[in-house]
Amino acid sequence: MNTHYDVIIIGSGAGGGTMARALAKSPSRVLVVERGVSVPQEPDNWNPEAVWKHLRYRATERWLDGQGEEFLPYTHYGVGGNTKFWGSVLYRLRREDFLAIEHMDGVSPAWPIDYDTLEPYYDRAERLYHVHGESGIDPTEPPRGPFPYASIPHAPGMATIIDGLRQQGLHPSPLPLGLIRPGEPGGCVLCGTCNSFPCRIHAKSDAEVCGIEPALGAGNVELWTNARALGLVTDPAGKKVESVDIELNGETIRVGASLVVVSCGAVNSAALLLRSASGAHPNGLANSSGLVGRRYMAHLATMMQGFHPLRKNDTVFQKTVAINDFYFRGPDTHYPLGHIQSQGRTHGVMAQTVVPWVPVWAYDAWVARGVDWLAMSEDLPRDDNRVTVGRDGRIQLHYRPNNLAAHAQLVKETRRILHRLGFWKVMTHSHKSKNTTHQCGTLAFGTDPRTSVLDPWCRSHDVANLFVVDASFFPSSAAVNPGLTIVAQALRVADHIMATELR
Ligand SMILES: Cc1cc2nc3c(=O)[nH]c(=O)nc-3n(C[C@H](O)[C@H](O)[C@H](O)COP(=O)(O)OP(=O)(O)OC[C@H]3O[C@@H](n4cnc5c(N)ncnc54)[C@H](O)[C@@H]3O)c2cc1C
Ligand code: SF4
Repeated sequence: MNTHYDVIIIGSGAGGGTMARALAKSPSRVLVVERGVSVPQEPDNWNPEAVWKHLRYRATERWLDGQGEEFLPYTHYGVGGNTKFWGSVLYRLRREDFLAIEHMDGVSPAWPIDYDTLEPYYDRAERLYHVHGESGIDPTEPPRGPFPYASIPHAPGMATIIDGLRQQGLHPSPLPLGLIRPGEPGGCVLCGTCNSFPCRIHAKSDAEVCGIEPALGAGNVELWTNARALGLVTDPAGKKVESVDIELNGETIRVGASLVVVSCGAVNSAALLLRSASGAHPNGLANSSGLVGRRYMAHLATMMQGFHPLRKNDTVFQKTVAINDFYFRGPDTHYPLGHIQSQGRTHGVMAQTVVPWVPVWAYDAWVARGVDWLAMSEDLPRDDNRVTVGRDGRIQLHYRPNNLAAHAQLVKETRRILHRLGFWKVMTHSHKSKNTTHQCGTLAFGTDPRTSVLDPWCRSHDVANLFVVDASFFPSSAAVNPGLTIVAQALRVADHIMATELR
């Protein structure tokens, strides 16, 4: 076992897995440290009981909420991180998302880079993660060339719904999806257990398949699993990280590194820096701004289902359409409301987790006649929405959602659309403040060290050889899924690291 590496990457999800893949091209020795293990390829991957009732792949750790109550975060620890379970809806942010935008509840701040800066990396990210889509249809689409792969055809049931949406004057567009060779032999079979399930046949574009596995093939990248970073250790002046303390299979070891890339996910990366406090960094590593852990965001998300007792829904792969008509303004307001997308099919077992006393057969009968949607709005960064760690190192998440009125209007509009499509009843469900799936923003990037933790290359303002490339760099959350932006920025940062540090 080596005791020193050129680069240690902590976490193997969207940010870390992509960084590993990019640095595999460098001559450096790279170690990826991942606290979990690989998800086994097994029948349970696609079993709703295993995934939703027995929570087979979920992290078992409990966090505390702002009131000190324990809760089970919706997150996963393992190779590929949360990308193993994502719906693979891989959106670019809109050009306007990089600018300051006024919302009902305040201003969503500007990013320190603009869309044009990230655009070439979005192109690369889409190729790397096999994104299928069609440009020129979504009215909010930023300037771009064609997608690398053609959009997934809509199932007949969804095509009928799309006609109905157009008749309402809306502009439905194909969802950009990261799937590997859909419909081809050995490729994605467009099944009904994708979002929230791992792909049993590795046909989902996740960070293990598209990042870690190819990186390991290059020869200069090593992966340690069951290896949890406990803290980063700096030189006495606190200017440089020298090593990482790692719990490897239950034993604590110290491993040296010339450069460290933290990518544990927004909550865990902030917690790791806070746990790495020292004499030189008494309030947590890289925390001269006092912002480490602050400005946590997570999107406002409501699951919705249109139900009609006489319309059996035969669609298996339903997640192919988006409605962005209210992204920049609502019909009755000039404020942005958010984004609507069709969702993977709800299974009876999933519905039963909301009201457990209803028998699963009743839910099965219900969901067989439903079409599923997600309404998602931007939440705004607030200093009081933050991650802290207790004396025992335990994570506490203080989060009070904001921009609720805009989200309520989006839900109302979605309900109206579904009723106009002829659905008799519209059901809604939200995990509210406990939904950590789109966590972001705890280590915001920016140009001013007083108001940001990272610089525009995601390098710590305070510690020169420390980078962070997961969702924590987001200064605002926008209202589309975050994954492709994490991947694109990781590719951009990797280029910068190779040009400036690994020559
Ligand atoms: C069910 C679900 C569906 C989703 N669907 C979509 C979607 O369709 N589109 C989209 O864009 N996004 C989606 N997301 C969100 C997306 O998965 C995340 O935004 C993305 O994975 C975040 O990337 P990350 O690099 O910040 O962190 P992660 O991907 O979470 O990776 C963090 C990694 O760090 C590891 N780690 C944590 N702490 C330590 C430590 N101390 N030491 C070592 N390793 C550590 C973790 O085990 C994990 O592997 C979804 C998420 C979920 C849960
Ligand atoms: S086969 Fe396709 S649709 Fe099914 S889980 Fe895998 S990637 Fe998702």
